[in-house]
Amino acid sequence: MKDIIIRGNENNGKIRFFAALTTELVNEAHNLHMTTPVVSAAFGRMLTAVSMMGTMLKGEDETISLQVRGDGPLEGIVAVGDCKGQVRGYVLNNSVDLPLKPDGKLDVGSAIGEGYLTVVRDLKLREPYVGRVKLQTGEIADDLTYYFASSEQVPSVVALGVLVDRDLSVRAAGGFILQLMPEAEETDIVKIEENLKDIPSVTKMLDQGLMPEDIMKKVLNGFDFKITETVHPAYKCNCSEDTIKRALISAGREELEDILAKEGSTEMTCFYCNKTYKISEKDIREILGK
Ligand code: ZN
Repeated sequence: MKDIIIRGNENNGKIRFFAALTTELVNEAHNLHMTTPVVSAAFGRMLTAVSMMGTMLKGEDETISLQVRGDGPLEGIVAVGDCKGQVRGYVLNNSVDLPLKPDGKLDVGSAIGEGYLTVVRDLKLREPYVGRVKLQTGEIADDLTYYFASSEQVPSVVALGVLVDRDLSVRAAGGFILQLMPEAEETDIVKIEENLKDIPSVTKMLDQGLMPEDIMKKVLNGFDFKITETVHPAYKCNCSEDTIKRALISAGREELEDILAKEGSTEMTCFYCNKTYKISEKDIREILGK
């Protein structure tokens, strides 16, 4: 099944929602970054969330990034998205292996530990918009729920799930974000809470073959809603020789002169897709000349 994100709202504008199936892109991320199951789960949740949050952006060149830094063995994750649902990211430690939790789930919270979640919206204005909250559980969905409530004052429900198969590939991934608009009433909240109590986890629903629309029908049972946009997300890096050379400039003159003296040329690997670029002596001299 092809990855998909739907967004829409309850007919009276009380609720807006985003729901995603991201199995392919999370599996692509797993392959590129060679992640262990618990890292696949953590990274996959971040990528799924950022793919949905990216569709909240308006301009083609705007980006949103989610960054998690924690004191657990995973250390940190970065996930970047745009308005077309294209995502990329990297993890600081791809080889974390932890015992499963008593309920049989991958222990994402322990892999990440205590720390912070930072959301950066780069709207290509002078300064990016940055929001930072303390991690609540490190399970990502809870942390984003807290972020939306405290940093953006939007009461939200965030559910994210990644199911890793026995061969370590990603069997199912996806999630949803539900946001209450100021028009929402107490009775609406109660109704949603009742619905959420009755439905299985996102991972389970996706593994049963439910599509994002089917999941929203369950979550928004009793509400009339319409889907306003459909996007096909993908894992896509936008690196090029140019972006890599620009990164090299930030290494500083001393470092570059050192490379010239010791090795002559160098190689640089993109964090996001692991593609390697050869940087020749001529390239380095050119950069130094500028
Ligand atoms: Zn790249």
